[in-house]
Amino acid sequence: MENKQRIALVAHDNKKHDLLEWAKFNKHLLIQHELYATGTTGKLLEQELGVEIHKLQSGPLGGDQQIGAKISEQELDLLIFFWDPLTRQPHDSDVKALLRIAVVWNIPVACNRASADFMISSPLMSSAYKRHLPDYAGYTGRILEDALI
Ligand code: PGA
Repeated sequence: MENKQRIALVAHDNKKHDLLEWAKFNKHLLIQHELYATGTTGKLLEQELGVEIHKLQSGPLGGDQQIGAKISEQELDLLIFFWDPLTRQPHDSDVKALLRIAVVWNIPVACNRASADFMISSPLMSSAYKRHLPDYAGYTGRILEDALI
C-alpha cells in the first residue's frame, strides 16, 4: 500500500483474546500497515497474523513508555489500546501516560473493538492524511523568569 500507517497495538491480558479476534477478522486490512506492539501482544499477533511485528518490551516492563516515546518522536500514526477497565494494573501510571501522550500529539486512539472497527475501516487509513501536528512552540519557548538565577 502506498500510504502505510504505523500502528501500535497493546492489549492488557484480559483483553488479548478480544484484540486477537479483532485482528484476525481485520487481517487483510491490518497487514497492509506497519505494526508495532508491546512484547506479549506482539508475540501473539505475530502468531495470529503470520506477519512481522515490531515488538517492544512487555507493557509492565516499559513497553507502554516505549510506545509513548515513539509517539512523541512522531514515529507512530495510530494507537489501538485495549486496556482493561476492570482490573488494576501494576503499570497503571504508564497506561495513563500513554493515553495522555497520544492526546498531546493528536494521535487517533481506539480503546475497544467498536472504535477499532471504525478506525481500521476509515478511508483515511489508505489516504495521505496529514494529521494536525500541534504547535507547542509557545509552551517550549515560555520564559520562566522566576527560575533564572
Ligand atoms: P504486553 O503488555 O503486550 O507485554 O502484555 C501490554 C500491557 O500490559 O501494556
